[in-house]
Amino acid sequence: MLKKPIIIAGPCAAESETQIDIAIAEAQKRSVDFMRVNLWKPRTKPGFDGLGDSGLKLLTRVAKAGLSPGLEVVLPEHVSKVTEAVLPHLHPEGKLLVWIGARNQNHYIQKEIASLAAQDSRIYLMVKNQPWPNEEHWEGIVEHVLSSGISRDNVLICFRGFSPYGSNPLGLRNIPDFDMAMRVKEKTGIPMVFDPSHTGGSVPNVFEMGRQSAEYDFDGMIVEVHHDPPHALTDQKQQLTWEQFDKLLAIARPTVEA
Ligand code: PEP
Ligand code: MN
Repeated sequence: MLKKPIIIAGPCAAESETQIDIAIAEAQKRSVDFMRVNLWKPRTKPGFDGLGDSGLKLLTRVAKAGLSPGLEVVLPEHVSKVTEAVLPHLHPEGKLLVWIGARNQNHYIQKEIASLAAQDSRIYLMVKNQPWPNEEHWEGIVEHVLSSGISRDNVLICFRGFSPYGSNPLGLRNIPDFDMAMRVKEKTGIPMVFDPSHTGGSVPNVFEMGRQSAEYDFDGMIVEVHHDPPHALTDQKQQLTWEQFDKLLAIARPTVEA
C-alpha cells in the first residue's frame, strides 16, 4: 500500500544521462514517490519516441540512487526488460511503477502487462484513462487489469482528461470531467492520481488544472518536470521547472496529506 499523497514527477521523456542525473538530484531534495523515466513514448505524430532499450541503464541509475522509477510500458516485453533493469538495484524501500498509457487500448495487452506486473509486490501498475469520454469503458480498463490477478493494493488509476472536441475556452490539451473521475474512483475503490500536465498542455494551464483538481478527492499527482523545458525533446510547453513544481504542489497538494 502506498502512502498518500502519491507524487510522481520527472521529465516527460528520458533524453540523456545528464538530464536524468539532474532530475535525480532535484527529486532527492523533495518527497517524490516515483520519478518519471519514460523510455517508450507513443506520439500523436512521428517524432522522438523515446530512448527505448538504450535507456534501460538510466532506470538502473535511478534505482541505484535510492529513488523509485516510473514509466509507461507499451508492450508486455517492456515489463520484463524494465523489471530486469530495476528490481535487482532497488534500495530496501524502493519500488517500480509501470503504467498503461491512454493510447494503449488493447485489453489483451493490458491484461498481459498486468499479469507480468503482478509477479513482484514491489511493482505498482498505474492505468491511465482512455482518450475518449466514456465512463463504462474507463471502468472496463480497470476491471480488465484487475482480472489478471494483480493485487488491488498495487494498482493506481491516473486521470488525464479526454480529447477536446467542441468548446475549449482555456485551450486545454485534454478536458477533465472531475465528477466522472470521482465516480470511477468511488466505484472501483482504487486510488486515483491526477495528471495536470497532460490535461493542461501549457504551464499556465498546468497551474489552472492543479487549482481546479484541489477541489476533488485525488490521492496524488503525476507532473512533468524538466530542468530546461524549452530544450526538452517532447512536451516543451507543459513541462515545469523544479521551482514551478514546488509552487504547483503548494497550491494543489492533495488534501489527504492532512
Ligand atoms: C505520458 O504520461 O507520458 C503520456 C503520454 O500521457 P497519456 O498516455 O495520458 O497521453
Ligand atoms: Mn508528456
